[in-house]
Amino acid sequence: MLGRNLMVADSPIPLPCRIIALMQERNRLFSYPLDSIAGEIKTVGFRCTRCGTCCTRAMNGHIFLLDHDVTEVKKIDPGAFEPAPAPEFCDQNGMLYVSGYALRMRNDNLGSCWFLENGKCRIYDQRFSGCRIYPHMLRRSADAAGLVTWRLFAKMNEHGRFNQEIPEDVCLALAREVKEYENAFLIHQISFIETVHEYFVINNLGHDQKMYDLQMRYLSQGELVRIMVYHDGELQEHRMINKNLPFM
Ligand code: SF4
Repeated sequence: MLGRNLMVADSPIPLPCRIIALMQERNRLFSYPLDSIAGEIKTVGFRCTRCGTCCTRAMNGHIFLLDHDVTEVKKIDPGAFEPAPAPEFCDQNGMLYVSGYALRMRNDNLGSCWFLENGKCRIYDQRFSGCRIYPHMLRRSADAAGLVTWRLFAKMNEHGRFNQEIPEDVCLALAREVKEYENAFLIHQISFIETVHEYFVINNLGHDQKMYDLQMRYLSQGELVRIMVYHDGELQEHRMINKNLPFM
C-alpha cells in the first residue's frame, strides 16, 4: 500500500519493544547510503504518466498522510481525509487506536482517491508526500531465501512507465526525499506508540485482542465504532463508520 500504518494488533510484542525495533529501523535507514537509493531509482527508471492507477484502494490499499500532509489536505478540502483504515490497537473498552489519517477513498469500484477525477489527480501539483515519492518507498524485507535487504516498492509494469532514463541529479534529489519521508514516517510511528503506551499506563488500559476483533467485525458490518487517531502529538477521538461497504 502506498501509505501505511503498522499492522501490530495481532502481535503480542510489548509496546516498549516495538518502540526499540522502530528506533533500530530508523538507525538502519540513516546508515543506508543515499547513493544506493539513487542507484535503485535509476535502475527502476520509473516515470509517472499521471495514469491514476496507483491512486486507488485496489492498487494501494490506502494513502497514509503525515501530519504536515493533513495540514495541507485540510486547506484544500477538509472532507478529503479520514482515520487510516487499519487500527493498530484496541483497549478493553472497545476504543480503537490508529497511527494517523489517510486520504479518503470513494465508494466506487476501484476505491478511487477523493482527488481523482476522470482518472487524473485534480491537485497533482499539491499532492502529498507519499504521492510524491511513490513508488519509491523503502522497505526492508526478506527474499525467498530469507535474506533481509532494502527493497523499493515499485509494482513494475502496473502503472506509469519503467526503464526510463532519469537524470542522476533527479535520482539523487528523489532519494533524499524518499529517505526524509521514511524517517518522518518512522518518527511518527515511534511517537504514536510512545503516546499510546503512556495513555494506557495512565488510564490502566491495555491492548485487548478479542475486543479488537469484535470492533473490527462491527466496522466491517457498517456499525459505528470509536477510534483514537494520533495526529500532531495527540490522540483525537472520532466515531467512525465504514464508508466503503457496498450498501452504504
Ligand atoms: S492526491 Fe492525487 S496523486 Fe495522491 S493519491 Fe490522490 S489522486 Fe493520486
